[in-house]
Amino acid sequence: MSLEDFPRHPLTFGPSPVHPLPRLSAHLGGASIWMKREDCNSGLAYGGNKTRKLEYLIPDVLAQGADTLVSIGGHQSNHTRQVAAVAAHLGLGCVLVQENWVPSWTDPLSTEVGNILLSRVMGAEVRLDPAGFDIGFRDSWRQALDDVERRGGKPYGIPAGASDHRLGGLGFANWAYEVARQERELDTFFDTIVVCTVTGSTHAGMIAGFAALQDAGGRPRRVIGIDASATLEKTIDQVDRIARRTAELIGLKRDLRQDEITVLPGWAGDEYGIPVPSTLDAIRLTGRTEGIIIDPVYEGKSMAGLIDLIHNGDIPKDSNVLYAHLGGQQALNAYAKAF
Ligand code: PLP
Repeated sequence: MSLEDFPRHPLTFGPSPVHPLPRLSAHLGGASIWMKREDCNSGLAYGGNKTRKLEYLIPDVLAQGADTLVSIGGHQSNHTRQVAAVAAHLGLGCVLVQENWVPSWTDPLSTEVGNILLSRVMGAEVRLDPAGFDIGFRDSWRQALDDVERRGGKPYGIPAGASDHRLGGLGFANWAYEVARQERELDTFFDTIVVCTVTGSTHAGMIAGFAALQDAGGRPRRVIGIDASATLEKTIDQVDRIARRTAELIGLKRDLRQDEITVLPGWAGDEYGIPVPSTLDAIRLTGRTEGIIIDPVYEGKSMAGLIDLIHNGDIPKDSNVLYAHLGGQQALNAYAKAF
């Protein structure tokens, strides 16, 4: 098996843009930083990393004859917004369980603006649920699946972040292959990839894809995941499991080594979804040096990680870094008071 054996339903514009960040790089005084832009990868409700994962789940949805996508996330989930967009695009129904993943962020607009507003606009049935943050499988999600069946529909369940699904890692294995093609076009090589990780399949797919490229004769590189879950053990476990599953699917002939699976703690704070000072500093710095917007839940934390890794020399000055911008700016609306 290889990645080409899996059908892909295109939902993106094509390869996502890759470009340098000269002012941020100069400001940090170290490595050369580039960005690959999943935040503008699609015309479907602003796109994002889940849109790439869904490209590999949708053929399975259509093959099964499902008529309703059912998924789950926090009130400001970017994932559920992208599921709602893809459902609308394909003429499918959509039921979303929106849990209270950030109970200590008490802004009442959290259930009104940003992602959840967009999901409502696109016609999804939005169900608010009091359960807290957990990237695992939930009763409320099973309940939503049962409800669709009871109404005579055929549901297709997509787990949180489209991650813990057999095909969940393929979208970002494909991303790794896309990076390799873009490197050839740009005549450059990214020795370090930095990516935010929570439900795990973005990072896991990259690990599998880059391992396959290396085994095919490519140069080795570091794929650094920055934890934004604040439940590190669960996220590492999920990244590890999905990376191995994806590696097997795309035909890697060996087990992944432990040193290929790197999830760094230190920038998530104590709680998922709560920005800490380094998050807000990273958001302001990226906005003010490059005019690029990142969010307080995910990319603000991975950017804070990148900044510190450059400052402390962990990423050396001669490094060529590719930062994955996975989207998520829509949640900023629920975080106005942080600024
Ligand atoms: N960045 C953004 C904007 C996200 O919406 C997510 C989703 O959880 C992530 C990063 C983390 O990706 P993953 O859940 O695949 O680890």
